[in-house]
Amino acid sequence: MADSFELVIIGGGPGGYNCAIRAGQLGMKVACVEMGPTLGGTCLNVGCIPSKALLHSSEMFEAAGSHMAGLGIKTKGVELDLPTMMAAKDETVDGLTKGIAFLFKKNKVTHITGRGKITGAGTVEVTDNDGATTTLSAKHIVIATGSEVTPCPGVEIDEKRIVSSTGALALTQVPKSMVVIGAGVIGLELGSVWRRLGAKVSVVEFLPRILPGADGELAKQATRIFKKQGFEFHLSTKVTAVKKQKSSLKLILEPAAGGEPTTMETDIVLVAIGRKPVTANLGLAAAGVTLDARGFIETDHWKTKAANIWAIGDCTTGPMLAHKAEEEAVACAETIAGGPGHVNYGVIPGVVYTAPEIAWVGQTEEELTAAGIPFKKGSFPFAANSRARANHQTDGFVKVLAHAKTDEVLGVHMLGAQVSEMIGAAALAMEFRAASEDIARTCHAHPTLSEALRQAAMGIEGWTMQM
Ligand code: FAD
Ligand code: NAD
Repeated sequence: MADSFELVIIGGGPGGYNCAIRAGQLGMKVACVEMGPTLGGTCLNVGCIPSKALLHSSEMFEAAGSHMAGLGIKTKGVELDLPTMMAAKDETVDGLTKGIAFLFKKNKVTHITGRGKITGAGTVEVTDNDGATTTLSAKHIVIATGSEVTPCPGVEIDEKRIVSSTGALALTQVPKSMVVIGAGVIGLELGSVWRRLGAKVSVVEFLPRILPGADGELAKQATRIFKKQGFEFHLSTKVTAVKKQKSSLKLILEPAAGGEPTTMETDIVLVAIGRKPVTANLGLAAAGVTLDARGFIETDHWKTKAANIWAIGDCTTGPMLAHKAEEEAVACAETIAGGPGHVNYGVIPGVVYTAPEIAWVGQTEEELTAAGIPFKKGSFPFAANSRARANHQTDGFVKVLAHAKTDEVLGVHMLGAQVSEMIGAAALAMEFRAASEDIARTCHAHPTLSEALRQAAMGIEGWTMQM
């Protein structure tokens, strides 16, 4: 007899675990099948959390070594202890993945370890590490299998010298030099970690700019700042091959539009050209689940084309972000339970955890212009914000975009210290469909960095008060 559940979820990342917990809270009998040794998926094990742990400690290291002197704090003999830095990161990951296991128990979610596959209507077969199989029966199945690294043609990842983000989170020594392929989020975040710890970091990007999804003005200013920090950018360039030599790696580069090849030598290559959905060996085609042209599972309000089979998170279209997966997880569980699940895809913030940080929510200037939406713009530099001046962190600005006629906030874009923590207020305002005047007339504490958001909103009607 198969173990029987109301809901079986395949994948225990932010999509899967949040869906399982919410379904448990709603009283469903739910199982979550995860093939990895721990819960938490990419995010907790090899993504958001370990990268943010290393970003934090490497920022502290760089501050202790150079920035603190300007604040009158003399440091002597600051040394890197990489094994301890890595151990601190691992301890965080371990604690958080165990936290999910605790939440599963608390919400009566059955955690099943093994590889799940849909083998028939309402049937999931689970194969454990020893090859033993169990069959689960389920009224509903949610696919939350996430994403994996997109390979770069001509570049073979070995996770030692040619690494993906996973290898870059676990290097055992600081390389003298690192070439990052792709100036996206991973390239800039993990490039920042190793640059701060002492590597010479060069970034090769196919497009003529960094961070293709971000507002152009934001990306332009960020590029200038990253160059000052020591990043070297090779834009409009592609890598056609990486050859392993005895003590170095040789990259063959070409202009993106074609042309004469050039070469470059480095110790470590980090491949960060995007991620692709995990959909193989899941029995999807036989079950009637369809994929779009880019290989993502097609859904309509998280429902696939097959009855009672749902899909959420990175394996479906939309931004590949943990909080997007989490939103879909909750909405999907609530819909299965008969409720009105809802995700506001227009208000999903994006953050790049570099220093300064980059954060945005809503539409960019380029998107509004392309859509022919009339908008007004207000912006405010952190150089004119008293808290940023007190902290000696004056790089960057906040920009608010609002509809020219209705004044509804359509996008907020930020570059600066701690803007990852400020973007939530902008998202909240947009969720409530605030006008820029609502932000401009909300009392903000002084002196805070968030006053820059208010001042940028005041700029829409031209009453920003410069220092
Ligand atoms: P995943 O987290 O990928 O989880 C899918 C799970 O399914 C995995 O555990 C996998 O083992 C399991 N699985 C797959 N197939 C099967 C199967 N057949 N049977 C059983 N289990 C299976 N996002 C942010 O929002 N903020 C960040 O700061 C951030 N930083 C990142 C840093 C890095 C280096 C990387 C790589 C990603 C980062 N992301 C970040 C993206 C974020 O990790 C993903 O968007 C998020 O994890 C997606 O959640 P998910 O549940 O859809 O998939
Ligand atoms: P990305 O899509 O952010 O960036 C990939 C970059 O590589 C792009 O700029 C692209 O133009 C470039 N590129 C593509 N092919 C290339 C080639 N052949 N040569 C040179 N450049 C090439 O992808 P990523 O940085 O790998 O991150 C993957 C996913 O993980 C993203 O979707 C991101 O949302 C998620 N992530 C999020 C965070 C965060 O939220 N802070 C952090 C890390 C990762």
